[in-house]
Amino acid sequence: MTVKAYGAHAGDQPLEAMEITRRAPGAHDVQIEIAFCGVCHSDLHQVRSEWPGTLYPCVPGHEIVGRVSAVGAHVKGFKTGELVGVGCIVDSCQHCEDCDAGLENYCDGMVGTYNSPIADAPGHTLGGYSQRIVVHERYVLRIHHPEAQLAAVAPLLCAGITTWSPLRHWKVGPGQKVGIVGIGGLGHMGVKLAHALGAHVVAFTSSESKRAAALALGADEVVVSRDEGAMKARRKSLDFILNTVAAPHDLDAYLALLKRDGTMSLVGAPASPHPSPQVFHLIMKRRKLAGSMIGGIPETQEMLDFCAEHGIVADIEMIRAEQIDAAYERMLRGDVKYRFVIDSASLAGEGSA
Ligand code: NAP
Ligand code: ZN
Repeated sequence: MTVKAYGAHAGDQPLEAMEITRRAPGAHDVQIEIAFCGVCHSDLHQVRSEWPGTLYPCVPGHEIVGRVSAVGAHVKGFKTGELVGVGCIVDSCQHCEDCDAGLENYCDGMVGTYNSPIADAPGHTLGGYSQRIVVHERYVLRIHHPEAQLAAVAPLLCAGITTWSPLRHWKVGPGQKVGIVGIGGLGHMGVKLAHALGAHVVAFTSSESKRAAALALGADEVVVSRDEGAMKARRKSLDFILNTVAAPHDLDAYLALLKRDGTMSLVGAPASPHPSPQVFHLIMKRRKLAGSMIGGIPETQEMLDFCAEHGIVADIEMIRAEQIDAAYERMLRGDVKYRFVIDSASLAGEGSA
């Protein structure tokens, strides 16, 4: 089945309308008509070949929400008409230690929603900037938010789980002081989720203009990272830091803010490396520098259910597919509060965004 999509043929070319093929649903597959797809900074890194190994044509998009339009004969968990989501994972080996632990995100055989080799044409996965996707039921998520919030639920499928997973893994909760660095798509979800988990949240931003907005998201304090006095005043005060910044920067400035035994987890994935941090910032207080990649399927469902229960969604700006390159430029300037979401109806020349 041919469907409309938006993607690029090379890293230095703009995205354009294209037609792609989706397989007919197999016995364990769920076919989904995509309603909205969030725009992650990873989409930009990948489609512009900032990360190595981009396969073209590249159709990005891994913050997918929509409605089930068909299910395979052996699908037990989903019915036609249900609201569902798909994040960054569409397959994995299903039998390794990581898959058994529900951490398919760390499976060596993980198949990403786009840019992963598969048998279907054109030989690699194509993502959510498209009208339809067909996914094995194991990787399909249930959405319990009201349908009116569906577009704002889309970013939870990557920005939500990528911040939820480390916050949960490092047991962030009441009585803890947590720093969230970079208040973009991921960071604004990090602030909302850490606040909802009961932590005292300190938002670190390079943009003075985000101060009031970060407080409105649920931050207890906002620090503009260029303000050396404000940074110095927070030394040795934080239990955990989640660093979402999409560009190389000085990690020492943040490691120095951790208490003894504190951890900073990096989730930002810049195209070139951060300068190496000073060993002394780690050994002096037994601090840890860690990383985390998206999250497993069970914890993604846990995050979606938590968000539905607590009324949490992303702050979004809706765009049409043909506005994607302009949206990327604005994302690079930090000029979005806080996530662009593509109205998939625009792929067919419809929709109002
Ligand atoms: P985003 O919306 O562009 O937000 C990134 C934020 O980083 C910006 O809003 C900005 O916040 C801050 N920043 C400071 N200096 C920057 C600079 N020179 N260039 C860009 N940003 C700068 O991006 P995102 O979608 O949240 O993604 C953030 C990073 O996480 C990307 O590298 C993305 O690929 C990566 N990512 C990783 C995972 C994972 O599994 N680990 C999953 C998804 C995304 P302030 O204005 O507040 O300073
Ligand atoms: Zn993403």
